Amino acid sequence: MKTLIKNVLLLPMTSEEDLLEKGDILIEDNRISKVGKFYLDCELDLIIDGEGMLAMPGLINSHTHLGMSLMRNYADDLSLMDWLENKIWPLESYLEAEDVYWGALLNMMELIKTGTTSFVDMYFYMDEVAKAAEKLGMRGVITRGLVAFSDPEEKSIEETRALFKRWNGKAGDKLRVMVAPHAPYTCPRPYMEKVLKLADELNCPIHIHLSETEDEVKKSVEEVGLTPIEYMANMGLLNHHVVAAHCVHITDREIDLVKGKSFYPINNPTSNLKLASGFAPVSKMLSQGINVALGTDGASSNNHTNMWEEVHLASILNKAVDKDPTSVRAYEALKMATVNGAKAMNQIDDLGTLEVGKKADIILIDIDVLHMRPHHRLISSLAYCAQGSDVNTVIIDGEIVLRNHQFVNVDEREVIDNVEKRTRKLLERAGLEYREGVISE
Ligand SMILES: [Zn+2]
Repeated sequence: MKTLIKNVLLLPMTSEEDLLEKGDILIEDNRISKVGKFYLDCELDLIIDGEGMLAMPGLINSHTHLGMSLMRNYADDLSLMDWLENKIWPLESYLEAEDVYWGALLNMMELIKTGTTSFVDMYFYMDEVAKAAEKLGMRGVITRGLVAFSDPEEKSIEETRALFKRWNGKAGDKLRVMVAPHAPYTCPRPYMEKVLKLADELNCPIHIHLSETEDEVKKSVEEVGLTPIEYMANMGLLNHHVVAAHCVHITDREIDLVKGKSFYPINNPTSNLKLASGFAPVSKMLSQGINVALGTDGASSNNHTNMWEEVHLASILNKAVDKDPTSVRAYEALKMATVNGAKAMNQIDDLGTLEVGKKADIILIDIDVLHMRPHHRLISSLAYCAQGSDVNTVIIDGEIVLRNHQFVNVDEREVIDNVEKRTRKLLERAGLEYREGVISE
């Protein structure tokens, strides 16, 4: 299969010096075989006219909980622990596998429609998440969140092993599996040690929440005498490739500790703002050469999963926090959502930029729109003006999954209707009433 995208503005994300220029992209099967200005000497199966559009690597959502979308807008304006302990965990206990399938499908469609081609997910019923990704042709890392108190017989650890065998490298290598201890405060040391041993055994990266709130850090110091990242380092975490969600309260000492290691903090600006968790020292970490990537967190703590909002916030929020308008420049924010995400996924050889030989995960963005005119500096247009709805076409692994804002292989109406139906049943099981549009406190 040979697809040509022609007359498109190219933002390869290879370096800030690579100026945007008009050119073509040739995709052969699932990889980019030519990019820029070139002579074409082969027959084509498909031509996409890129006039009025910009092509860039698909966005990477490096931390999310896709199966949570049935609880979107269910409980808000609460503190993290109140939200988790009194609202989310009780309702979650009624979730069934099929709820997670439809919830993840809906959420992935939101990702695709707004230009995200890859995700790093953490939840349960992860086979359902894998199936939903397979249906859509989406790329992702699936991880079974491990929480000791809900896993007294350590079945979830075994589940991770099985999940790895079943899905790692499957769906044309679009799916990968990581080991995911939820957080140090939900995995006491003996349990955590078993989880780290499993990551050793499977030789796979780790996905974890670290230092999300001030309280978490305080309790860790009180209980074990160390901050969460120091405590985890002490247990050998830094010998692994680590996708570390949040790191809001990472200390200077911890920054020194993780520097030069395969440690990838994931900034989730909307979720941190909404749960009032604080501000991660993003520019400090970036200036120390730490690869900070971007995520949305789950649909019930954000509550959207549109990466353009995270790019926008990562850039403007850190300027205010640092009292420095040169902090996290537009290009750096875009890099966090592409190149840095590919590194966090441990797939930088295949993803993150538009380069010959890389996998064809490409998005086309409508730039001939009111809110992006005039086109002085398209990097700024993307970081400061772009909306999810500007994403016109999405290609994942060489396959078109969204064309002219429409899904190619799934019926949007059917998915919305099923999610509504499943949500109603979920609330019924929990003894709650679901009245659409009404808060049922
Ligand atoms: Zn999370």
